[in-house]
Amino acid sequence: MKKAVFLDRDGVIIEQVAYLSSPEQVALIPGAAEALRLIHRHGDLAVVISNQSGVGRGYFTAAAVDAVHARIQELLAAEGEAVDAFYYCPHAPEEKCSCRKPSPEMIHRAARRFGIDVGSSLMLGDRMSDLECGVNAGCARNVLVLTGYGAEQEPKVRAAGFSSARDMLAAVADFYGESSE
Ligand SMILES: [Mg+2]
Ligand SMILES: [Zn+2]
Repeated sequence: MKKAVFLDRDGVIIEQVAYLSSPEQVALIPGAAEALRLIHRHGDLAVVISNQSGVGRGYFTAAAVDAVHARIQELLAAEGEAVDAFYYCPHAPEEKCSCRKPSPEMIHRAARRFGIDVGSSLMLGDRMSDLECGVNAGCARNVLVLTGYGAEQEPKVRAAGFSSARDMLAAVADFYGESSE
């Protein structure tokens, strides 16, 4: 079975922008394409698992989310890379849906679709709820990246027993036992 690196989107693979909704706002986090290259060289998958409550709150449309994801793929393609799949929860918290992180539902959906062994996979996020999602899904490791909200979340997240890494590339390199320098 394949492994996956599950990734939060905002603050992990692209720079954090509150309620980011336009392709022009998309900027890759440095090292993101290299991290994807490492994942793919190991024959694994990179799957984005994202909460986009701006849709449910009426701030932007699902089509805008699709346009943002297309822009991410376009920027990655320029570096010969791509995300394998994007999953997102479009609901506002008040909707009490079953998919919003920290629910593991989106990871379970991806695992069924691609035949992923979640128990040997990695979850990366810049917030506690991302790591709780990974724990709830049964991921082997759940690591905080210090990009996005990661630096401000670090004390709380480390107190809860999670480890952290400088960024997506450092976390992925560590997962595979390689150096990111
Ligand atoms: Mg985030
Ligand atoms: Zn949802």
